[in-house]
Amino acid sequence: MIGPPGSGKGTQAVRIAQWRSVPHISTGDILRAAVRAESPLGRKVAAVMAAGGLVDDAIITELVEERLRADDASRGFVLDGFPRSLAQAEALDRMRPADSLIVVLIEVPGEAIVRRLSSRRVCDGCGITQSVSHESAGREPCPYCGGNLVRRPDDNPDTIRRRLSAYADVSDPVVAYYRGRRGFGVIDGRQHAERVTADLQAHIGRALNNGGS
Ligand code: AMP
Repeated sequence: MIGPPGSGKGTQAVRIAQWRSVPHISTGDILRAAVRAESPLGRKVAAVMAAGGLVDDAIITELVEERLRADDASRGFVLDGFPRSLAQAEALDRMRPADSLIVVLIEVPGEAIVRRLSSRRVCDGCGITQSVSHESAGREPCPYCGGNLVRRPDDNPDTIRRRLSAYADVSDPVVAYYRGRRGFGVIDGRQHAERVTADLQAHIGRALNNGGS
């Protein structure tokens, strides 16, 4: 699943993974867990992530390759946040047959994204992502588990702009790489989340009926 930060890609990836009963593999989540655990990987990537830059292709590719070797990924998976560069897309084609991939781009214009990410909060209890109104920001607990809703450290306006520019630099070649390939689709991410999910399900259903796996 490809889409700019704040396109709703993470939320949609979780829903699609549940719908298909396959693992949701988010490179951002894996890296954040590594940073929290202060593992060797976490120490290597912490500064780049905090600055909103992209982690080295070799590090990410190895991480995904290892994750896809796990048993639970043998029947399929939803990749969220990978590939984010041409080198990563080429590497993914070496991990799985190119024609078995269903690639979707969730499109949202840049100005809508800065607005969305500035109001995004993550629960420090259950990890769910939510949008908060300006007035309630920082005051309301998580409606699901009562945890604290906190801003991701890389969701401040300056870092958001850097992340968007990092995304723009690399996403065009990745999208060009996949466009025209069987199974590629573009979804309008400005729609209501339920509509985006329905469009994704329709696209994936069609792609699977046409011989994807
Ligand atoms: P995300 O949660 O997908 O927005 O990712 C958060 C941060 O993790 C990004 O801003 C990058 O620093 C890093 N990251 C996640 N996935 C990748 C990737 N495929 N390639 C390079 N950096 C990544």
